[in-house]
Amino acid sequence: ILTIGIESSCDETSVAVVKNGREVLSNIISSQVEVHKIYGGVVPEIASRRHIEVIDYLLDEALEEAGISLEDIDVVGVTAGPGLIGSLLVGVSYAKGLAFALGKPLVGVNHIAGHISANFIEHRDLEPPLLCLVASGGHSHIVGVRDYTEFEIIGKTTDDAAGEAFDKVARILGLPYPGGPNLEKLAAGGDPCAYEFPKSYPSRRDYNFSFSGVKTAVLNLVNSLKMRQEPVPGEDIAASFQKNVVEVLIDKLINAAIDFNYDKVAIAGGVSSNKALRQKLKEEAEKAGLKFYYPAPVYCTDNAAMIACNAYYEYLRGNISDMTLNAYPHIGLKRIG
Ligand code: ATP
Ligand code: MG
Ligand code: FE
Repeated sequence: ILTIGIESSCDETSVAVVKNGREVLSNIISSQVEVHKIYGGVVPEIASRRHIEVIDYLLDEALEEAGISLEDIDVVGVTAGPGLIGSLLVGVSYAKGLAFALGKPLVGVNHIAGHISANFIEHRDLEPPLLCLVASGGHSHIVGVRDYTEFEIIGKTTDDAAGEAFDKVARILGLPYPGGPNLEKLAAGGDPCAYEFPKSYPSRRDYNFSFSGVKTAVLNLVNSLKMRQEPVPGEDIAASFQKNVVEVLIDKLINAAIDFNYDKVAIAGGVSSNKALRQKLKEEAEKAGLKFYYPAPVYCTDNAAMIACNAYYEYLRGNISDMTLNAYPHIGLKRIG
């Protein structure tokens, strides 16, 4: 079965062809980083227009690289939420047109479920159940993955998402958009023990996160240094902030795995490409006797291969969308349709 995946929820347009849910034949990604850089963040209206401009070409490229033609497609999968409404509508409308014209089934995919599915693409033998940390620009969830399409949210952020905190702290340190990867680069040259920012555990007993406190602590530190006209040691601050966030994420994930009896843990979403997180979690998971899985960086950030993977499993379970499929910007981790 050949599934085409279409992703346009934020500032990446992507089209992929995936065979039997897990074999990536092509995964074409067009990033809008350069377009939004001058504004310091994603401008939704510009993002939607940009998706419209490139999506047709990406489909051609994805088919060509996969060595197939339009008629070979069996399933059309598309991100229908959560994300930016205008951006989502471009992909959803395009996918509806495509599925209707080809007479092939359409599957609306949840973007967060897509991020989780990146692990199934990377590790072809990996099967649920497993526990997955989703740390992205808009979400920080600990998700029990009971089956390919069955999820249970065990914990989530009570304020900022992890990626959002990285982006905001990057901005405080004067780094250009996109903040997360730039902050990681800056942190590489710093001392992670230079500053002890408050560890944000809303409660020791649950599995929820809070990242606004550490963000504010960085802001207050930078402001007071500037006020006293002292130099701002960006590298040390970045490294200390990164250590703080990484440790909280790992602590909660491992506790949840033990408490809920999962023997496999995985990570997903843009923040999961962070090397400090990957390295530290590898060590901690080993200590706790857990198997640890993580996707290649290209499958951590937004891409259509992960969307095609989830669409395939939804299709197998008969969860097909019809032409009333809409965009659902705030849907959370619920099934589409
Ligand atoms: P969501 O998936 O929640 O809708 P999104 O699609 O914008 O949000 P992703 O594309 O999954 O999020 O990830 C982007 C986020 O990941 C950004 O906040 C970015 O700063 C962060 N990020 C990317 N690379 C890194 C890194 N190496 N270290 C830390 N954060 C990173
Ligand atoms: Mg992005
Ligand atoms: Fe995403």
